[in-house]
Amino acid sequence: MPTQTTSQPIGRFAPSPTGELHLGSLTTALASFCHIKSLGGRWLLRIEDTDTERCDQQFTEQILIDLEALGLHWDGDIIYQSERIDIYNDYLSSALRPLTYGCQCSRKDLEQYWEKEKKNSPFDSSQVLSDRTRYPRHCVAKDLDRQQHKLRIQLPDYSIGFNDGIQGLQWDNPQQTLGDMVARRQDGMINYILAASIDDGLQQVTHIMRGLDILPMTTAQISILHAARLPAIGHWYHLPLICNSEGQKLSKQNLAQPIDTRDPSQLIAKALQLLQQSAVDKDTPTNMLKQAIAQWDNTPLQGQQQLNSCDS
Ligand code: GLU
Ligand code: ZN
Repeated sequence: MPTQTTSQPIGRFAPSPTGELHLGSLTTALASFCHIKSLGGRWLLRIEDTDTERCDQQFTEQILIDLEALGLHWDGDIIYQSERIDIYNDYLSSALRPLTYGCQCSRKDLEQYWEKEKKNSPFDSSQVLSDRTRYPRHCVAKDLDRQQHKLRIQLPDYSIGFNDGIQGLQWDNPQQTLGDMVARRQDGMINYILAASIDDGLQQVTHIMRGLDILPMTTAQISILHAARLPAIGHWYHLPLICNSEGQKLSKQNLAQPIDTRDPSQLIAKALQLLQQSAVDKDTPTNMLKQAIAQWDNTPLQGQQQLNSCDS
């Protein structure tokens, strides 16, 4: 019997539980939910908790409570990345193996290397500094033990383009931007964009809508999916970042207020307004979301990199 192919769009929300939801992460959740539902799709929930130092089970629980209170009901089972480390390691030792190598350079070794480069460079120091994110590939041919050392992945050194449904056409060379990034730390922690790429592929995600802060990682993600022989993502959307009145991005680092879901309808109205959607009638969260889905429109967000929330 032929296997049934489904063309239903699949979107997802993939929070890292390093804090509670704030207005920025809430708008990402709401936008990706309304957008994928407006296409008749499924909305998956994936908890990106590979960073055991920064993630906390309590935050995960609070995120689930908040999403439920807001009527943002996910489809299917929740995926927890902390339970999938073996899957990522399997990819690193099979399909991705030819691109990866052990690296023994410490941060200090690299600092010293860049200091020396800066002194010897005929160029001005800003040019050398801008190259600092790129690992100088000292270990690429050393064939170091893969288990004993951190593992780096060679990203392609050519420009990759994709059409972003909000930010327009994008081109980037992932090797120039990120270099050979660390795929797995010496302590075993998996790089988050590597884990996200593998999961998006395995979950057959078709539409990724997320914050603009992840845009610089997107060509790396496209190349990892390709190298891992996982399905390509057909549709990308990077949402403008929500900023406070001083223009700073709302984030856990600058202590954005956690959302207060005691009045979920009010919160939905506010997030929709921030996302420049038509107003919906004040009602239960579920009914408000229904109306928001019916009215959903990406057009007002196009080309925008930042939206201001006045009171945060
Ligand atoms: N886990 C990431 C975050 O919370 C999102 C990654 C993604 O959506 O691809 O910022
Ligand atoms: Zn090295």
